[in-house]
Amino acid sequence: MSVKSDLGQRLVQTLAEIAETARRAGRDPADVGLVAVSKFHPAASVAEVHGAGQSAFGESYVQEALGKMAELAALPLSWHLVGGLQSNKAKHVAGRFALIHSLDSGKLARALSRALTERAGTQDVLIQVNLAGEEQKSGVAEDQAKALAEEVLGLPGLNLTGLMVLPPYDPDPEISRPYFVRLRQLRDRLARELGQPLAHLSMGMSGDFAPAIEEGATLVRVGTRIFGERPEGGG
Ligand SMILES: *Cc1c(COP(=O)(O)O)cnc(C)c1O
Repeated sequence: MSVKSDLGQRLVQTLAEIAETARRAGRDPADVGLVAVSKFHPAASVAEVHGAGQSAFGESYVQEALGKMAELAALPLSWHLVGGLQSNKAKHVAGRFALIHSLDSGKLARALSRALTERAGTQDVLIQVNLAGEEQKSGVAEDQAKALAEEVLGLPGLNLTGLMVLPPYDPDPEISRPYFVRLRQLRDRLARELGQPLAHLSMGMSGDFAPAIEEGATLVRVGTRIFGERPEGGG
């Protein structure tokens, strides 16, 4: 496909790098999905990137996500919620996203499940694990992940498909690698102990998707690399 738009070129370049990294790591590029994170960028930019072939988009904030979903309802897009979610917003999001990456408490899981039961819906979710124990960040502590996974598996409507991590920011991607290794090891252990595949590892962003793919990411969440710097005030 010939891609004329600037954002489209950036998408194509990013997809090529993802595929090349996967191949170098001995993985099938088809096993690494791209979620294009469009937070703080307008619906028109999402449409432009979609025009170059991308259909999965990620948002961090519920109101912003629902707004763009409505604006772009005519396009065949799938939306991922990658930002922290409060349980009082559960009813607005349950069943509306292809995947919620940021489930991090029993309270939120129960609120989502209740909303799903009312509308007979289902929702794929990942548990976000706060491996660095950063106070300001979402995510369940590593030693609480199994208990939360067990609770989620017992709740109607929720389909637990894996884990997500957002390591502390560092300009050196190699600093992120040990977190990616730990998330994969945690996933392997939980999958075994719970008898669930937990197929997805959501890890890697613009600056560190290469080590994430090398360590087993099945979904990378890339914003800036595709959309450019976020406008002033943006995350
Ligand atoms: C903003 C965000 C991203 C994308 O970050 P970039 O560095 O712009 O690629 C990925 N994941 C989460 C959870 C985010 O909030």
